[in-house]
Amino acid sequence: KAVDSPPLRIAVMAGDGIGQEVVPEGLRVLDAVSRRLGIALQFDHFDFASCTYYERHGQMLPDDWKERLGGHDALFFGAVGWPKTVPDHVSLWGSLLQFRRAFDQYVNLRPARLMPGVRSPLVKRDGSPYAAGEIDMLIVRENTEGEYSSIGGRMFAGTEREIVMQETVMSRLGVDRVLRYAFELARRRPRRHLTSATKSNGIAITMPFWDERVEAIAAEFPDVTRDQFHIDILTAHFVQRPQAFDVVVASNLFGDILSDLGPACCGTIGIAPSANLNPERKFPSLFEPVHGSAPDIAGKGIANPIAQIWSAALMLDFLGRRDGHDAILRGIETVLDPASGAPRTPDLGGKATTADVGRAVAECVGSLA
Ligand code: ATP
Ligand code: MG
Repeated sequence: KAVDSPPLRIAVMAGDGIGQEVVPEGLRVLDAVSRRLGIALQFDHFDFASCTYYERHGQMLPDDWKERLGGHDALFFGAVGWPKTVPDHVSLWGSLLQFRRAFDQYVNLRPARLMPGVRSPLVKRDGSPYAAGEIDMLIVRENTEGEYSSIGGRMFAGTEREIVMQETVMSRLGVDRVLRYAFELARRRPRRHLTSATKSNGIAITMPFWDERVEAIAAEFPDVTRDQFHIDILTAHFVQRPQAFDVVVASNLFGDILSDLGPACCGTIGIAPSANLNPERKFPSLFEPVHGSAPDIAGKGIANPIAQIWSAALMLDFLGRRDGHDAILRGIETVLDPASGAPRTPDLGGKATTADVGRAVAECVGSLA
Protein backbone atom coordinates (compact mmCIF):
# COMPACT_ATOMS: atom_id res chain seq x y z
CA LYS A 1 0.00 0.00 0.00
CA ALA A 2 2.75 2.39 1.01
CA VAL A 3 4.58 1.76 -2.26
CA ASP A 4 1.56 2.89 -4.26
CA SER A 5 1.29 6.26 -2.52
CA PRO A 6 3.08 9.14 -4.26
CA PRO A 7 6.72 9.49 -3.25
CA LEU A 8 7.74 11.87 -0.50
CA ARG A 9 9.61 14.65 -2.26
CA ILE A 10 12.85 15.54 -0.51
CA ALA A 11 14.99 18.53 -1.49
CA VAL A 12 18.61 17.69 -0.70
CA MET A 13 21.11 20.48 0.05
CA ALA A 14 24.48 19.22 1.27
CA GLY A 15 25.92 22.72 1.71
CA ASP A 16 29.52 23.22 2.82
CA GLY A 17 32.38 21.37 4.48
CA ILE A 18 31.45 18.08 6.08
CA GLY A 19 27.85 18.60 4.89
CA GLN A 20 29.15 17.25 1.56
CA GLU A 21 30.46 14.16 3.34
CA VAL A 22 27.67 13.31 5.78
CA VAL A 23 24.63 13.99 3.56
CA PRO A 24 25.48 11.12 1.15
CA GLU A 25 25.54 8.79 4.18
CA GLY A 26 22.13 10.06 5.26
CA LEU A 27 20.86 9.31 1.75
CA ARG A 28 22.45 5.88 1.80
CA VAL A 29 20.52 5.01 4.95
CA LEU A 30 17.29 6.54 3.62
CA ASP A 31 17.73 4.39 0.55
CA ALA A 32 18.10 1.27 2.66
CA VAL A 33 15.04 2.04 4.79
CA SER A 34 13.00 2.96 1.75
CA ARG A 35 13.71 -0.42 0.21
CA ARG A 36 13.25 -2.31 3.45
CA LEU A 37 9.88 -0.76 4.36
CA GLY A 38 8.54 0.28 0.97
CA ILE A 39 8.73 4.01 1.62
CA ALA A 40 8.73 5.80 -1.73
CA LEU A 41 11.20 8.71 -1.68
CA GLN A 42 12.18 11.13 -4.41
CA PHE A 43 15.38 13.14 -3.98
CA ASP A 44 15.99 16.44 -5.79
CA HIS A 45 19.50 17.80 -5.34
CA PHE A 46 20.33 21.50 -5.12
CA ASP A 47 23.78 23.12 -4.92
CA PHE A 48 22.59 26.42 -3.45
CA ALA A 49 22.48 27.44 0.23
CA SER A 50 26.24 26.95 0.25
CA CYS A 51 29.28 29.19 0.22
CA THR A 52 30.51 27.54 -2.98
CA TYR A 53 27.29 28.71 -4.64
CA TYR A 54 27.85 32.17 -3.17
CA GLU A 55 31.33 32.36 -4.64
CA ARG A 56 29.89 31.77 -8.12
CA HIS A 57 26.70 33.84 -7.87
CA GLY A 58 27.27 36.47 -5.18
CA GLN A 59 24.25 35.25 -3.26
CA MET A 60 23.40 32.17 -1.21
CA LEU A 61 20.15 31.35 -3.01
CA PRO A 62 18.80 31.78 -6.56
CA ASP A 63 16.00 34.32 -6.97
CA ASP A 64 13.38 31.61 -7.48
CA TRP A 65 14.34 29.46 -4.48
CA LYS A 66 10.87 29.59 -2.92
CA GLU A 67 9.29 28.12 -6.04
CA ARG A 68 11.99 25.49 -6.40
CA LEU A 69 11.85 24.32 -2.79
CA GLY A 70 8.27 25.12 -1.82
CA GLY A 71 6.68 22.07 -3.40
CA HIS A 72 8.78 19.58 -1.45
CA ASP A 73 7.69 17.63 1.59
CA ALA A 74 10.96 18.27 3.39
CA LEU A 75 14.40 19.82 3.07
CA PHE A 76 17.31 17.53 3.95
CA PHE A 77 20.17 19.82 4.81
CA GLY A 78 23.85 19.28 5.60
CA ALA A 79 25.62 22.34 6.94
CA VAL A 80 26.36 25.84 5.78
CA GLY A 81 29.40 28.00 6.45
CA TRP A 82 32.89 28.53 5.07
CA PRO A 83 34.20 31.51 7.04
CA LYS A 84 37.44 31.65 5.05
CA THR A 85 35.50 32.99 2.07
CA VAL A 86 32.06 34.09 3.32
CA PRO A 87 31.36 35.63 6.75
CA ASP A 88 29.07 33.43 8.89
CA HIS A 89 26.37 36.09 9.22
CA VAL A 90 26.11 36.31 5.43
CA SER A 91 25.92 32.56 4.85
CA LEU A 92 23.49 31.92 7.70
CA TRP A 93 21.19 34.88 7.05
CA GLY A 94 21.25 34.15 3.34
CA SER A 95 20.12 30.54 3.70
CA LEU A 96 18.74 28.84 6.81
CA LEU A 97 17.17 31.95 8.29
CA GLN A 98 15.45 32.65 4.97
CA PHE A 99 13.99 29.15 4.97
CA ARG A 100 12.88 29.47 8.59
CA ARG A 101 11.03 32.70 7.88
CA ALA A 102 9.51 31.95 4.46
CA PHE A 103 8.45 28.43 5.38
CA ASP A 104 7.22 29.44 8.84
CA GLN A 105 9.29 26.81 10.63
CA TYR A 106 8.16 27.91 14.04
CA VAL A 107 9.30 24.84 15.96
CA ASN A 108 12.94 23.98 16.46
CA LEU A 109 13.15 20.43 17.75
CA ARG A 110 16.24 18.79 19.20
CA PRO A 111 16.27 15.35 20.77
CA ALA A 112 18.89 14.87 23.47
CA ARG A 113 19.22 11.19 24.21
CA LEU A 114 22.20 9.36 25.61
CA MET A 115 22.97 6.58 23.14
CA PRO A 116 24.71 3.26 23.78
CA GLY A 117 28.49 3.45 23.49
CA VAL A 118 28.55 7.22 24.03
CA ARG A 119 29.73 8.73 27.30
CA SER A 120 27.93 11.67 28.83
CA PRO A 121 30.28 14.32 30.21
CA LEU A 122 28.01 14.31 33.27
CA VAL A 123 28.00 11.89 36.18
CA LYS A 124 25.31 11.15 38.74
CA ARG A 125 25.40 12.49 42.29
CA ASP A 126 27.11 9.32 43.48
CA GLY A 127 29.78 9.64 40.78
CA SER A 128 28.49 6.81 38.59
CA PRO A 129 27.99 7.30 34.84
CA TYR A 130 24.62 7.66 33.14
CA ALA A 131 23.49 4.60 31.20
CA ALA A 132 22.16 4.70 27.64
CA GLY A 133 18.59 5.97 27.53
CA GLU A 134 18.70 7.42 31.05
CA ILE A 135 18.94 10.89 29.56
CA ASP A 136 16.15 11.20 27.00
CA MET A 137 14.59 14.55 26.32
CA LEU A 138 13.18 16.62 23.50
CA ILE A 139 13.89 20.32 23.47
CA VAL A 140 11.23 22.42 21.74
CA ARG A 141 12.32 25.97 20.94
CA GLU A 142 10.03 28.71 19.66
CA ASN A 143 11.72 29.65 16.42
CA THR A 144 10.14 32.79 14.97
CA GLU A 145 9.51 35.49 17.60
CA GLY A 146 10.34 36.22 21.24
CA GLU A 147 13.63 37.79 22.21
CA TYR A 148 15.08 37.68 18.67
CA SER A 149 13.13 40.61 17.26
CA SER A 150 14.81 43.45 15.42
CA ILE A 151 12.69 46.09 17.12
CA GLY A 152 14.85 48.47 19.04
CA GLY A 153 17.59 50.96 18.55
CA ARG A 154 20.46 53.02 19.86
CA MET A 155 20.29 56.58 21.01
CA PHE A 156 23.11 59.01 21.75
CA ALA A 157 25.54 56.54 20.20
CA GLY A 158 29.12 56.98 21.31
CA THR A 159 28.27 59.39 24.11
CA GLU A 160 28.07 58.77 27.82
CA ARG A 161 24.29 59.00 27.56
CA GLU A 162 24.16 56.09 25.14
CA ILE A 163 21.00 53.97 25.42
CA VAL A 164 20.36 50.64 23.67
CA MET A 165 17.04 48.81 23.53
CA GLN A 166 15.72 45.65 21.94
CA GLU A 167 12.15 44.49 22.38
CA THR A 168 10.82 40.99 22.99
CA VAL A 169 7.74 40.22 20.95
CA MET A 170 5.34 37.44 21.87
CA SER A 171 2.02 36.93 20.14
CA ARG A 172 -0.71 34.77 21.58
CA LEU A 173 -0.88 32.87 18.30
CA GLY A 174 2.87 32.41 18.21
CA VAL A 175 3.14 31.21 21.79
CA ASP A 176 0.06 29.01 21.68
CA ARG A 177 1.08 27.14 18.56
CA VAL A 178 4.50 26.15 19.84
CA LEU A 179 3.08 25.19 23.24
CA ARG A 180 0.39 23.08 21.62
CA TYR A 181 3.03 21.34 19.52
CA ALA A 182 5.07 20.59 22.67
CA PHE A 183 2.06 19.25 24.56
CA GLU A 184 1.10 17.02 21.62
CA LEU A 185 4.65 15.71 21.55
CA ALA A 186 4.62 15.00 25.29
CA ARG A 187 1.30 13.21 24.97
CA ARG A 188 2.83 10.72 22.53
CA ARG A 189 5.73 9.82 24.81
CA PRO A 190 5.64 7.27 27.64
CA ARG A 191 6.35 9.75 30.42
CA ARG A 192 3.89 12.40 29.16
CA HIS A 193 5.69 15.17 30.93
CA LEU A 194 6.27 18.76 29.87
CA THR A 195 8.70 21.25 31.41
CA SER A 196 8.38 24.94 30.59
CA ALA A 197 11.28 27.38 30.90
CA THR A 198 10.42 30.79 32.28
CA LYS A 199 11.91 33.80 34.04
CA SER A 200 8.78 35.50 35.26
CA ASN A 201 10.47 36.68 38.46
CA GLY A 202 12.82 38.92 36.49
CA ILE A 203 11.21 39.50 33.10
CA ALA A 204 7.92 40.70 34.44
CA ILE A 205 5.81 41.32 31.31
CA THR A 206 6.52 38.75 28.59
CA MET A 207 7.39 35.77 30.78
CA PRO A 208 4.24 35.88 32.93
CA PHE A 209 2.33 35.94 29.64
CA TRP A 210 4.22 32.81 28.52
CA ASP A 211 3.35 31.09 31.85
CA GLU A 212 -0.29 32.14 31.48
CA ARG A 213 -0.50 30.57 28.02
CA VAL A 214 1.13 27.36 29.29
CA GLU A 215 -1.58 27.22 31.94
CA ALA A 216 -4.32 27.85 29.37
CA ILE A 217 -3.09 25.27 26.82
CA ALA A 218 -2.49 22.73 29.61
CA ALA A 219 -6.24 22.58 30.14
CA GLU A 220 -6.48 20.84 26.73
CA PHE A 221 -3.96 18.20 27.86
CA PRO A 222 -5.06 16.86 31.25
CA ASP A 223 -3.10 13.66 30.56
CA VAL A 224 0.24 15.52 30.42
CA THR A 225 1.96 16.33 33.72
CA ARG A 226 4.04 19.46 33.85
CA ASP A 227 6.38 21.66 35.78
CA GLN A 228 8.18 24.94 35.16
CA PHE A 229 11.50 26.40 36.19
CA HIS A 230 13.28 29.69 35.86
CA ILE A 231 15.88 29.41 33.11
CA ASP A 232 18.83 29.87 35.49
CA ILE A 233 17.94 26.98 37.78
CA LEU A 234 16.77 24.92 34.81
CA THR A 235 20.25 24.95 33.28
CA ALA A 236 21.61 23.76 36.65
CA HIS A 237 19.03 20.95 36.70
CA PHE A 238 20.05 19.89 33.17
CA VAL A 239 23.54 19.30 34.49
CA GLN A 240 22.61 17.85 37.90
CA ARG A 241 19.60 15.68 37.03
CA PRO A 242 19.07 15.50 33.26
CA GLN A 243 17.08 12.29 33.73
CA ALA A 244 14.20 14.36 35.17
CA PHE A 245 13.23 15.83 31.81
CA ASP A 246 11.03 14.59 28.99
CA VAL A 247 9.74 17.36 26.68
CA VAL A 248 11.11 20.83 27.46
CA VAL A 249 9.54 23.88 25.83
CA ALA A 250 11.05 27.37 25.81
CA SER A 251 11.00 30.77 24.14
CA ASN A 252 13.41 31.56 21.33
CA LEU A 253 16.35 32.70 23.50
CA PHE A 254 15.92 30.23 26.35
CA GLY A 255 15.30 27.48 23.81
CA ASP A 256 18.48 28.42 21.98
CA ILE A 257 20.46 27.93 25.17
CA LEU A 258 18.75 24.71 26.22
CA SER A 259 18.95 23.19 22.77
CA ASP A 260 22.73 23.45 22.83
CA LEU A 261 23.01 22.36 26.45
CA GLY A 262 20.77 19.30 26.07
CA PRO A 263 22.73 17.62 23.26
CA ALA A 264 26.00 18.60 24.99
CA CYS A 265 24.86 16.55 28.01
CA CYS A 266 24.66 13.53 25.70
CA GLY A 267 28.25 13.36 24.43
CA THR A 268 29.59 14.12 20.97
CA ILE A 269 28.09 16.78 18.72
CA GLY A 270 28.68 14.33 15.87
CA ILE A 271 25.45 12.47 16.64
CA ALA A 272 22.97 15.26 17.57
CA PRO A 273 20.09 15.85 15.10
CA SER A 274 17.67 18.74 14.75
CA ALA A 275 14.55 19.81 12.88
CA ASN A 276 12.96 23.13 11.97
CA LEU A 277 9.29 22.35 11.62
CA ASN A 278 6.18 23.78 10.08
CA PRO A 279 3.91 21.26 11.84
CA GLU A 280 0.89 21.92 9.61
CA ARG A 281 3.00 20.92 6.59
CA LYS A 282 1.82 23.97 4.69
CA PHE A 283 5.51 24.55 3.90
CA PRO A 284 8.48 22.17 3.88
CA SER A 285 10.28 21.53 7.16
CA LEU A 286 14.05 21.31 7.39
CA PHE A 287 16.14 18.53 8.90
CA GLU A 288 19.83 19.00 9.65
CA PRO A 289 22.50 17.99 12.16
CA VAL A 290 23.16 20.26 15.13
CA HIS A 291 26.81 20.58 14.12
CA GLY A 292 28.13 22.97 11.50
CA SER A 293 30.35 22.53 8.47
CA ALA A 294 33.42 21.80 10.65
CA PRO A 295 36.10 23.28 8.36
CA ASP A 296 38.81 21.85 10.65
CA ILE A 297 38.01 18.26 9.62
CA ALA A 298 36.37 18.84 6.22
CA GLY A 299 37.79 16.85 3.32
CA LYS A 300 39.34 14.19 5.57
CA GLY A 301 36.45 11.74 5.46
CA ILE A 302 36.37 11.36 9.23
CA ALA A 303 33.21 13.28 10.15
CA ASN A 304 30.66 11.30 12.12
CA PRO A 305 27.59 10.88 9.86
CA ILE A 306 25.23 9.82 12.66
CA ALA A 307 23.82 13.31 13.36
CA GLN A 308 22.85 13.52 9.69
CA ILE A 309 21.43 9.99 9.68
CA TRP A 310 19.41 10.64 12.84
CA SER A 311 18.09 13.83 11.20
CA ALA A 312 16.85 11.62 8.35
CA ALA A 313 15.00 9.55 10.95
CA LEU A 314 13.34 12.67 12.38
CA MET A 315 12.29 13.56 8.85
CA LEU A 316 10.57 10.22 8.25
CA ASP A 317 8.82 10.46 11.62
CA PHE A 318 7.56 13.94 10.80
CA LEU A 319 6.35 12.78 7.37
CA GLY A 320 4.25 10.07 8.96
CA ARG A 321 6.66 7.12 8.73
CA ARG A 322 7.31 6.31 12.37
CA ASP A 323 8.34 2.83 11.23
CA GLY A 324 11.13 4.32 9.15
CA HIS A 325 12.28 6.45 12.08
CA ASP A 326 12.36 3.47 14.42
CA ALA A 327 14.25 1.33 11.93
CA ILE A 328 16.97 3.97 11.52
CA LEU A 329 17.22 4.52 15.28
CA ARG A 330 17.66 0.80 15.85
CA GLY A 331 20.39 0.82 13.21
CA ILE A 332 22.17 3.74 14.89
CA GLU A 333 21.92 2.15 18.32
CA THR A 334 23.30 -1.12 17.05
CA VAL A 335 26.25 0.53 15.36
CA LEU A 336 27.03 2.75 18.37
CA ASP A 337 26.92 -0.19 20.79
CA PRO A 338 30.56 -1.23 21.31
CA ALA A 339 29.39 -4.85 21.57
CA SER A 340 28.54 -4.77 17.85
CA GLY A 341 32.17 -4.21 16.91
CA ALA A 342 30.91 -1.79 14.24
CA PRO A 343 33.19 0.98 12.93
CA ARG A 344 33.45 4.26 14.87
CA THR A 345 34.72 7.65 13.72
CA PRO A 346 37.58 9.38 15.62
CA ASP A 347 35.23 11.60 17.68
CA LEU A 348 34.00 8.35 19.27
CA GLY A 349 37.49 6.97 19.72
CA GLY A 350 37.59 4.90 16.52
CA LYS A 351 39.55 4.99 13.27
CA ALA A 352 36.70 4.51 10.79
CA THR A 353 35.70 6.81 7.96
CA THR A 354 32.40 8.60 7.45
CA ALA A 355 31.44 6.11 4.74
CA ASP A 356 32.34 3.07 6.91
CA VAL A 357 29.84 4.20 9.54
CA GLY A 358 27.18 5.12 6.97
CA ARG A 359 27.50 1.69 5.36
CA ALA A 360 27.29 -0.04 8.75
CA VAL A 361 24.04 1.73 9.65
CA ALA A 362 22.59 1.10 6.19
CA GLU A 363 23.42 -2.60 6.48
CA CYS A 364 21.71 -2.82 9.88
CA VAL A 365 18.63 -1.07 8.55
CA GLY A 366 18.54 -3.27 5.47
CA SER A 367 18.76 -6.50 7.47
CA LEU A 368 16.15 -5.68 10.13
CA ALA A 369 13.61 -8.41 10.70
P1 ATP B 1 28.21 26.44 13.72
O1 ATP B 1 28.71 26.81 12.36
O2 ATP B 1 27.04 25.51 13.71
O3 ATP B 1 28.07 27.57 14.66
P2 ATP B 1 30.89 25.71 14.25
O4 ATP B 1 31.25 25.90 12.83
O5 ATP B 1 31.42 26.64 15.27
O6 ATP B 1 29.33 25.55 14.39
P3 ATP B 1 31.04 22.90 14.09
O7 ATP B 1 31.18 22.96 12.62
O8 ATP B 1 29.78 22.32 14.62
O9 ATP B 1 31.27 24.29 14.76
O10 ATP B 1 32.25 22.16 14.74
C1 ATP B 1 32.59 22.26 16.11
C2 ATP B 1 33.64 21.21 16.45
O11 ATP B 1 33.02 19.92 16.45
C3 ATP B 1 34.76 21.15 15.43
O12 ATP B 1 35.99 20.89 16.06
C4 ATP B 1 34.38 20.00 14.54
O13 ATP B 1 35.46 19.34 13.97
C5 ATP B 1 33.62 19.08 15.49
N1 ATP B 1 32.55 18.37 14.75
C6 ATP B 1 31.43 18.93 14.27
N2 ATP B 1 30.68 18.03 13.62
C7 ATP B 1 31.34 16.85 13.69
C8 ATP B 1 31.07 15.54 13.19
N3 ATP B 1 29.97 15.24 12.48
N4 ATP B 1 31.97 14.56 13.45
C9 ATP B 1 33.07 14.85 14.15
N5 ATP B 1 33.39 16.06 14.65
C10 ATP B 1 32.54 17.07 14.42
MG1 MG C 1 30.42 27.06 11.45
